[in-house]
Amino acid sequence: MALIVQKYGGTSVGTTERIHAVAGKIKGYVERGDQIVVVVSAMSGETNRLLTLASEITDAPSVRELDVLLTTGEQVTIALLSMALHHAGIEARSYTGGQVRILTDSEHSKARIRDIDDQSVRADLDTGHVVVVAGFQGVDEQGNITTLGRGGSDTTAVAMAAALHADECQIFTDVDGVYTTDPRIEPKARKLDRITFEEMLEMASLGSKVLQIRSVEFAGKYNVPLRVLSSFEEGGSGTLITFEDESVEQAKISGIAFNRDEAKLWIKGVPDQPGVAHQIVGPVAAANIEVDMIIQNIAQDGTTDFTFTVHRNDYEKALDILEKTAVELGAAEVVGDDKIVKISLVGVGMRSHAGIASTMFETLANENINIRMISTSEIKVSVVIDEKYLELGVRALHEAFHLDAEPKTV
Ligand code: ADP
Ligand code: ASP
Ligand code: MG
Repeated sequence: MALIVQKYGGTSVGTTERIHAVAGKIKGYVERGDQIVVVVSAMSGETNRLLTLASEITDAPSVRELDVLLTTGEQVTIALLSMALHHAGIEARSYTGGQVRILTDSEHSKARIRDIDDQSVRADLDTGHVVVVAGFQGVDEQGNITTLGRGGSDTTAVAMAAALHADECQIFTDVDGVYTTDPRIEPKARKLDRITFEEMLEMASLGSKVLQIRSVEFAGKYNVPLRVLSSFEEGGSGTLITFEDESVEQAKISGIAFNRDEAKLWIKGVPDQPGVAHQIVGPVAAANIEVDMIIQNIAQDGTTDFTFTVHRNDYEKALDILEKTAVELGAAEVVGDDKIVKISLVGVGMRSHAGIASTMFETLANENINIRMISTSEIKVSVVIDEKYLELGVRALHEAFHLDAEPKTV
């Protein structure tokens, strides 16, 4: 008998028919003798619908009330799935995040889980129930409802699995595993049987939304065996997220991630003196805006240029701040661009292979794609390019690094 935490995403519970299908799938595991905790998302499109409703009321909704609103999406699904399980003859009980007592900090819309009280869930499992938990939500010390950030049901599932010492956390979604890149952009993308935590973390943080980044962090930290599987196809073994294993064949590149959510800001002609970087980035950070890539050019004639990227949602706000900073610093000009994307190559095998970046640049050059910014780390190379070249860039790189073929042992 295994204890398994299963998470079903929005598309997987997108209609009542699909909710019945998920109940049928869960029934199969229960009949095999497994103990099952199910974490569900809101039905597909529901969280966005609720966000639109809020925006019709006000431009600046209270973050506390927004969390109260958004968590209703998942509450609908836990009730419907529990009913579907009852209908299939399975005993089940639903819980909101607050009812489990998934305790978080008070950072509305991006709260972090601090603790999970597993008592009620364990008691229900012990009496043969399937426990159905609302993803994406928790409560803070004061009992305020919080949410964990978009895609946060993945994190609820991994955190529940960690708290219960589950045998596996299974993320059921609308693709049958983690691919070399988003299969919606590159149909030749290949499913990976395994990927290391380190690579998955990098892929997620560079924009592959198949798993929320915090869920991967959590799984790595608490040693939770994590698997991504299809809700719609039976029998596949999906993708296992593993700790680095010498015996696993190591490709130079495991995957290509991209992020459409970035915008670029460029401040030109800044006096080249100690403290300018701080003067530029400081006010942006103080406004709670995360800065991603940063480039400072070599100074010429006593001035320098400074470019950085922020989340697209923060673009207007960051541009306003930078324009004020430019006046204070006597900078020449501020230029913004929110029609950019970041494409990244990820792979632990990169450590031992030189020349990845140059092949990447050559490939993009051959397609006449101009690189606007570059950043590298031990296991990734990222470039910022114009948004209109996203598909072309991803497909050309996928081909150049032969990602559609099984890797050869290196
Ligand atoms: P869910 O609603 O189940 O949480 P998501 O939409 O959050 O599903 O995540 C699944 C989607 O992630 C897929 O439909 C796919 O388009 C996208 N995706 C992005 N990068 C990858 C990748 N490398 N491998 C697989 N899917 C990816
Ligand atoms: N419903 C939330 C979202 O759409 C959480 C999730 O699906 O994981 O972001
Ligand atoms: Mg998701």
